[in-house]
Amino acid sequence: MESKRRKSRQVTVGGLPIGGDAPIAVQSMLNTDSHNADACFAQAKALEEAGCAVVRIAVPDREAARIFPALKERGIRVPLVADIHFDWRIALESVAAGADKIRINPGNIGEAERVREVVRACEAKRIPVRIGVNSGSLQPEILKKYGAPTAEALAESALDHVRLVESFGFSDLVLSIKASAVQEMIGANRILAARCDYPIHLGVTEAGSRHFGTIKNAVGIGSLLCDGIGDTIRVSLTADPVEEVREGYAILHAIGLSAAGVDVISCPTCGRTRIPLIDMVEAFESRIGEIRTGRRVRVALMGCAVNGPGEAREADIGIAGGDGYVVLFCKGEIVRRIPADEAVDTLIEIINRGDF
Ligand code: SF4
Repeated sequence: MESKRRKSRQVTVGGLPIGGDAPIAVQSMLNTDSHNADACFAQAKALEEAGCAVVRIAVPDREAARIFPALKERGIRVPLVADIHFDWRIALESVAAGADKIRINPGNIGEAERVREVVRACEAKRIPVRIGVNSGSLQPEILKKYGAPTAEALAESALDHVRLVESFGFSDLVLSIKASAVQEMIGANRILAARCDYPIHLGVTEAGSRHFGTIKNAVGIGSLLCDGIGDTIRVSLTADPVEEVREGYAILHAIGLSAAGVDVISCPTCGRTRIPLIDMVEAFESRIGEIRTGRRVRVALMGCAVNGPGEAREADIGIAGGDGYVVLFCKGEIVRRIPADEAVDTLIEIINRGDF
């Protein structure tokens, strides 16, 4: 079942369209010291190679804004977003230094006049602003009104900020509401999506480790994407940011929203299995980065030839286990036999050649 995507307006971040009919962008954030250009470059490069579409960088002080020209001079092409808290002067410094988008929470920038200065600077450079509201930093008056960071409270906070920025004649916006409570995050974004047409960035914040964090993000981000809501995503994890990108794409694959890449279908194994399928699936998944394909490929790794090809009929290509060997199949039809220990290499080779 295909969900109908919410119609959002489109903004451009460093040449990348976000919203409208643009592909859903997978983002991440550097966790290296923003003053250390070498470390930031290495991580930004790794993210770029993993397919990260937008990289956010914390800018804790004015000096740290130098990271934008430093990364661009070193050849980083992915759009770079300045993450600003509290000090509007750091936002101005980041705009001047070449950031492609500014992420602020107007609630902690202080007086409206300071927010106005930031959006004026962004307007002059034609760069968008992301208004990011987090459950941990709601304005006291909203918190008092609702008693807790409920979905309605979070949405009201975001929409209040939108009205403030719009009152300055600025509408080059992306919005995000993040919470560590998945249900609040989902509820707040549903309200936001119904009340405006700005592009929405999705994420469950402070989600935890790769395992539990991915599950929380998959539920939060995935539920909204299935509703047609969301234009960019970040799977926030206490882990290497490259893992955030991998898991982000895994969520898009699971929902069928990625234009290219590999979807793995594999059986749970049972008493019929005569090949080391669990190890083979792990080996295949660990090598997905070696696959260069411009289309979406569904690859099945099945334990037996009795049910394997039939159960994986939707797959483009796959293997089904025999006793020490596997049969290679395409679109549910058996093609030939190969030794089990050559199966993963063979699959990767065929997918890269594209002849299936
Ligand atoms: Fe068992 Fe075969 Fe089904 Fe895998 S595909 S679970 S081995 S019956």
